[in-house]
Amino acid sequence: MTLIGWIIRFLAILLLVRLVMRFFAGIVRGYSLPASGQSRRSTSPATREGGHLVRDPHCGTYVPVGRALRDGSGDSTIYFCSENCRNAWSARKAG
Ligand SMILES: [Zn+2]
Repeated sequence: MTLIGWIIRFLAILLLVRLVMRFFAGIVRGYSLPASGQSRRSTSPATREGGHLVRDPHCGTYVPVGRALRDGSGDSTIYFCSENCRNAWSARKAG
């Protein structure tokens, strides 16, 4: 048996071990994901990354609260996506 032969055999075994390891890692990952990974991921349409979303009552668009135009104050605050919507809303409210 030559040295090259041993190296080739060694590499073949290494490759096989790697393949088996990856196979088992995939099984473990497949088992653990549905149990713990998905339970804490609950996203509602109104809240998303980057801040709370508010709904423009005039056109129905969701706008980040930091970028929305406000009308009113406190609990009765209404948020709009643009000045056009705010004007249209207040015009409609006035009659
Ligand atoms: Zn709007």
